[in-house]
Amino acid sequence: MTLSFSEECSRELSLVCDSDGTILQLDKRAERILGVQVGSELRACMVAGSEDKLKTMLSEARNTPLRNWELALLAFGKPATLSFCARAAEPHKLELHALVLPDNYGETVEHLSSTMSQMLGLHREISRQKKELETKTHELLKTNRELDESNRGVLSLHAELADKAESLRHSAEVRGRVVANVSHEFRTPLHTILGLSRLLLDASDGPLTDEQQKQIRFIRSSAEELSALVNDMLDLSKAESGKMLLRVNPFGLHDMISSLRGQLRPLVPLAPNGTDVELVFEEPSTDATLETDQGKVAQVLRNLVSNALKFTERGEVRVSVGVEGDTAHFAVSDTGIGIGAADYAHIFEEFGQVDSPLQAKVKGTGLGLPLSRKLAELLGGTLQVESELGKGSTFRLSIPACHPEAHEIKQLEARPLDPEKAPVLVVEDDRKTIFIYEKYLANAGFQVVPARNIDHARNLLRQLRPAAIVLDIMLDGETSWNFLAEVKRDPRTHEIPVLVVTVTNKEQKARALGADEFWLKPVDQDRLLRKLRALSRPGSSAKVLVIDDDDRARYLMRKYLEKEPYSLLEAATGPEGITCAREQRPDVILLDFLLRDMTAFDVLDDLKGDPRTRGIPVVIITSHMLDATERQRLAAETEVILSKASLSRELAIHRIRDALQKAGVSKWSTPGVEH
Ligand code: ADP
Repeated sequence: MTLSFSEECSRELSLVCDSDGTILQLDKRAERILGVQVGSELRACMVAGSEDKLKTMLSEARNTPLRNWELALLAFGKPATLSFCARAAEPHKLELHALVLPDNYGETVEHLSSTMSQMLGLHREISRQKKELETKTHELLKTNRELDESNRGVLSLHAELADKAESLRHSAEVRGRVVANVSHEFRTPLHTILGLSRLLLDASDGPLTDEQQKQIRFIRSSAEELSALVNDMLDLSKAESGKMLLRVNPFGLHDMISSLRGQLRPLVPLAPNGTDVELVFEEPSTDATLETDQGKVAQVLRNLVSNALKFTERGEVRVSVGVEGDTAHFAVSDTGIGIGAADYAHIFEEFGQVDSPLQAKVKGTGLGLPLSRKLAELLGGTLQVESELGKGSTFRLSIPACHPEAHEIKQLEARPLDPEKAPVLVVEDDRKTIFIYEKYLANAGFQVVPARNIDHARNLLRQLRPAAIVLDIMLDGETSWNFLAEVKRDPRTHEIPVLVVTVTNKEQKARALGADEFWLKPVDQDRLLRKLRALSRPGSSAKVLVIDDDDRARYLMRKYLEKEPYSLLEAATGPEGITCAREQRPDVILLDFLLRDMTAFDVLDDLKGDPRTRGIPVVIITSHMLDATERQRLAAETEVILSKASLSRELAIHRIRDALQKAGVSKWSTPGVEH
């Protein structure tokens, strides 16, 4: 095998020479490449000018072995660079090994070395960047760890806060319930004490001595004070829990002020400084009509006036009122002892009173102002004070002339039912919760029919068949357990799903009374909608009974109504139809005029003669040509007469809907507004 020039050159050649460069031994490759033999002078194959370098190499190699000594020689007769390694073999012999370097070796080496140095630079740069990156990663990891820690901290803080909020809410609720219960419990014995002391003072069981009378009067005034405190506490807890009922009605300003004058005038002589203080009611400049809770407005004003009378030694207490735009302003000003600005906040706190010589002389619970402010907020307004020590005070009550929430509730209660939406009777005394349900259900095919007490709910149930009932248990002054039992006992209502949503964990009781679901408040929208949809396909409970002895006619009606929200009952004979109507109480009956065993008139007589079926609307379907008398009689006893020949799906559905709506007992009928 012959090797190419480059292959030859890239391999090593070996030779031995004496110290003058005379060749003593050489291998074949050296012979062929350099074209020399034993006895030849190495000098002879040197490129002119490089003989000296050879000489130096030979002399140096005698002392130390050399590596990579480059010499220019003629290889195959052409100048080439050879890289020599040389060492002394014996005293006068040198062993040489050489490698023919390629032509561009120099450049390549230069290029390589510059590439190398570039690479080194690059390597250094990469190492530097790597190090920097490592430091940054390290820092990042550290920051991450720190962030992680603070995140955990924030999370646990958050959980702690949520816990605290929950427990605060819970304690506020518990406190509210305790106050409400305790206050109720106090009221009865107080009532007895007040009643009995009155009897004693009236001497109905014999006269009392003066001393006894004095003692009874003390008992009585103590009981009265306690009673005032209990009432305030009860009101405050009701207002705080949002359970206070608002009775919104339209009333004229003039009437209100004159009735207030009537109530408060008698207080003046009883006031500690009654003789030196005048109570002035300014006549309202307009007789505007307000629509809000008159009782609550009067309660706030009574409290402000009685405070003003207590803390005014001489001068006047003045009540003024005015309407500006949509806001009614009431002001009670006095020329009394006044309140320092530092105490403005304090007096609105529960039991907050300001020390003064007068304070010790007058009676008070310290709950009047916090309650008044709560009431003002309940009315959608504010209660503020302006005062100067020694000069007097002005308390200002500003409220919307028309209570917005109450207005909305009224609208909600009075709105006609949307036949496309399934009504959900919401028995709930808290207005805010009613609005939340309304928001949850409004766009989901349902509509809220609110009832804020049991009587109202009973009334509504007489007029409408809701798709479901959402029932709160703790209502204002009553619980709805009996109502739940009633609904589930009554065959007319027992099928209506009832979802109990309340704050008291009495699931067992609720289930035992027939509740279909039990949840603790608050309930979220998804959950409510999922349940309502599962329990009550809107309209699914509307029952339609078809009485027809023709299988095909019944089949056709089944097909017509299959996609409608009705459940279809079928009877193939008159008596079967009558029994079914009695037992199942359909919401509408479709009656064939010509039955084999009975005439439609016989069926109608039976239905109308039974109070259980009397009110069910009947639609006559006939293929028979009716004469005038038949038509007249049927018109009196049925909703509509349809001809089988022209009966279409749309017409059937339309007529059934009409009949259901007209019947007034139908699923989505408008509740008469008997609120
Ligand atoms: P009470 O009058 O039963 O103590 P309130 O909550 O109504 O409780 O009032 C709290 C306190 O505010 C009073 O005790 C009194 O110190 C101060 N205050 C209320 N109204 C006036 C007023 N018109 N003038 C001076 N001080 C008043």
